[in-house]
Amino acid sequence: MTEENRYDLVVIGSGAGGYVACVRAAQLGMRVACVEKNARLGGVCLNVGCIPSKALLDSSEHYATARHRLSEHGVRVSGVELDLAAMMARKDQVVAELTENVRKLLERHKVTILAGTGRLLGPGKVRVEPDDGPAVELQAKAVILATGSEPVQVPSLPFDGRLIVSSTEALVFDRVPERLGIVGGGYIGLELGTVWNRLGSQVTVIEMLPRIASLLDSQVSRTLERLLRRQGFEFLLESRVEEAAAEDDAVRVRLRTKKGEEERVFDRLLVAVGRRPLTRGLGLEDLGVATDPQTGQIMVNTRYETSVPGIYAIGDLTAGPMLAHKASAEAVACVEGIAGLESEVNYDAVPSIIYTWPEVASVGKTEEELKQLQVPYCIGTYPFAGAGRARCMGETDGFVKVLSHARSGRVLGIHIIGPRASDMIAEGVLAVECGAAAQDIGRVMHGHPTFSEALQEAARVATACAIYGR
Ligand code: FAD
Repeated sequence: MTEENRYDLVVIGSGAGGYVACVRAAQLGMRVACVEKNARLGGVCLNVGCIPSKALLDSSEHYATARHRLSEHGVRVSGVELDLAAMMARKDQVVAELTENVRKLLERHKVTILAGTGRLLGPGKVRVEPDDGPAVELQAKAVILATGSEPVQVPSLPFDGRLIVSSTEALVFDRVPERLGIVGGGYIGLELGTVWNRLGSQVTVIEMLPRIASLLDSQVSRTLERLLRRQGFEFLLESRVEEAAAEDDAVRVRLRTKKGEEERVFDRLLVAVGRRPLTRGLGLEDLGVATDPQTGQIMVNTRYETSVPGIYAIGDLTAGPMLAHKASAEAVACVEGIAGLESEVNYDAVPSIIYTWPEVASVGKTEEELKQLQVPYCIGTYPFAGAGRARCMGETDGFVKVLSHARSGRVLGIHIIGPRASDMIAEGVLAVECGAAAQDIGRVMHGHPTFSEALQEAARVATACAIYGR
């Protein structure tokens, strides 16, 4: 083994977990290599996840605003047309720039980037197989696995990449499907449904459970369902696809709904029923790296170390929400732990966001969870219709809901459905992280007029409940 191939840390995967781990390790003085099999760095989030989906959400929002909303502001436009190819090209440009930025970031931190598929050969030993050229063996004091996840494939609905597709293909349709079926009412289905609904598709979401985005506070998910229905979404709840047959340019689907059996035809069928950890080919079995037999997730301790000392795992590979910021937070904590520093992730303060319109964002416990845990709680809600800024913008749908401990007033959960909830939730995350009371949010001065005044008002309502019992 040449000196050149010896590292303090080898990271397999360059996604939100992997590249952040590399940078943090380099900052702490480690000699680092990043192994990535994809030609572009940045993983799912940058290439086929968060970023392209948000680029399309933002572009389609402009299109929908120009078509339906500008006139209420006294702006008359005519002849608004969709140029889907230009919209897609812009999205591709955003992705290209950001993935290139990751390369520059790694290079600036002197991280060695190795193109190829990584596989564990033993503790501290990684083999990298490039698409062309000879394989390389690396030696490392520590190895972090950050290979992410892939879409779950339903046996009765095998992806064909054209008619029955995963989120990856739904980001690159070359024309607007007239009828888009979406199996799964989670955040990926709802966000991509929003894109195509705005661009003209009739979107039907087929969900097995009685409500969409079932992890949300139920008051929020019911409101989201109502508002999306108003935008033209059709929801078939407590329904499942029994069978799907791809025809020439359409998919014929047999459904079991609450009302009985039904047949539908869609131009495209997006299957978005979840993702599973991507561990195939990593050599975990040979080394005895333990995985959860139910979920396939790699089991780790509080330092993200697997059952094999010196091998760590982070991000979508491990338990918890499959979110880019969770992967990045784990990357930092894992690397700092390897470096002997005290570092941890607070899983009670993970924001989760759905970029529909209105947006949905939450942190902490839902009302249902507090009931189940028998925690005494206060609720403060405030509608955006009462916020001056929301009225100015004509964005009055939705509300903020603050859940606080009935005695201490400590913030236990914040749930927002409304304009720019994605940015507003940061204050809620800080409140939960710092153990703030609803009273603290109520007392802090908020700029006027802003959306976040709705959070302040909701916090005041929760405070009144804690003090006066109402
Ligand atoms: P990944 O980003 O999946 O990166 C893993 C990397 O490892 C990939 O580059 C892969 O090519 C590489 N790799 C795999 N196996 C090997 C191997 N053997 N050798 C070398 N390289 C390998 N999250 C959010 O927080 N916000 C969002 O808005 C959001 N939107 C999303 C929208 C969509 C449509 C999807 C699909 C996901 C979205 N996510 C979002 C989830 C987010 O993308 C993931 O949680 C995040 O990418 C996980 O990061 P990771 O580092 O664990 O893995």
